[in-house]
Amino acid sequence: MATPVLQVKNLTTRFKTERGVVTAVDGISFEVAAGETLAIVGESGSGKSVTSMSILRLIPSPPGRIDGGEILFEGEDLLKLSHHEMRRIRGNRIAMIFQDSMSSLNPSITVGKQIAEPITLHRKVSWREANGQACELLKLVQIPDPENRLSAYPHQFSGGMRQRAMIAMALACQPRLIIADEPTTALDVTVQAQILDLLKDLTQKAQTSMILITHDMGVVARYANRVAVMYGGRIVEQGPAREVFNRPRHPYTQGLLGSIPRLDSDPDKPLPAIEGMPPDLSALPAGCAFAPRCAKAGSACRASRPALARASEGHFSACFNA
Ligand code: ADP
Ligand code: MG
Repeated sequence: MATPVLQVKNLTTRFKTERGVVTAVDGISFEVAAGETLAIVGESGSGKSVTSMSILRLIPSPPGRIDGGEILFEGEDLLKLSHHEMRRIRGNRIAMIFQDSMSSLNPSITVGKQIAEPITLHRKVSWREANGQACELLKLVQIPDPENRLSAYPHQFSGGMRQRAMIAMALACQPRLIIADEPTTALDVTVQAQILDLLKDLTQKAQTSMILITHDMGVVARYANRVAVMYGGRIVEQGPAREVFNRPRHPYTQGLLGSIPRLDSDPDKPLPAIEGMPPDLSALPAGCAFAPRCAKAGSACRASRPALARASEGHFSACFNA
């Protein structure tokens, strides 16, 4: 087997807060193979963004700190790199796409220049050449009239077009890995699907690996090869997307699958959400963090925390009852 593009081992990231030390990411391990899309899914506050920011070494410190683990990117531990070395990787070999294109793009710089910038930063090319590549990239992400669009400012783009520009920027240096953190959450459903289809198409063509962060199981089903389900800073289930969909083991995953919107459901009715609130990370229970919300929880679940255990080939779940 080829070495995975990314291997995260026992990653732990903590924050010092007024309420004490919060373990936002608690000893998680996962891998992303070449050309593969791994979805990380979970409710708000489960540690998805902290995971992606840890990989990119963008955790604000203080109050945050990566307290342990390894992040092997193409075999090299990113946690051992200097800030300078990290800057050569970010935006180059690992690119990111964030949810909020308005705050990720600079409002006072043209879109063309913002796409050309990482190219001039990481490749030995002239601005003129980089500009030509930016134009090709706009074409690639299907922005009409790219020659003229290069000189537009972000606010002159629609939300969907801005997200396409973000994808163009991410692809500019042909990264090995793209981390897309809820890349379409702010967009309406049709545009969401168009953007994700485009992202899937382009990453597949270039054999780029991707971590796709989402709170939407529908997105996982359609775009991911594998999935890691996060709850309270831990991975509670992990496996091939199809397998996890067809045979979800963890009651939390089952709950998430129960809250997928369906085309025939009444748009005015709220989705059947999982009852109860996500856990307070500064006061996690001794046992399974999901136990207070879990219909199946027994005394064992409240006494100690279940570890991830193999359910089938490549499929793991952290539940005493599954
Ligand atoms: P999500 O799964 O919604 O992306 P995050 O990874 O952003 O969740 O956050 C997980 C938890 O980490 C938050 O609920 C919060 O407790 C903690 N956290 C994240 N960023 C900070 C911060 N800058 N300061 C303190 N705590 C933080
Ligand atoms: Mg997030």
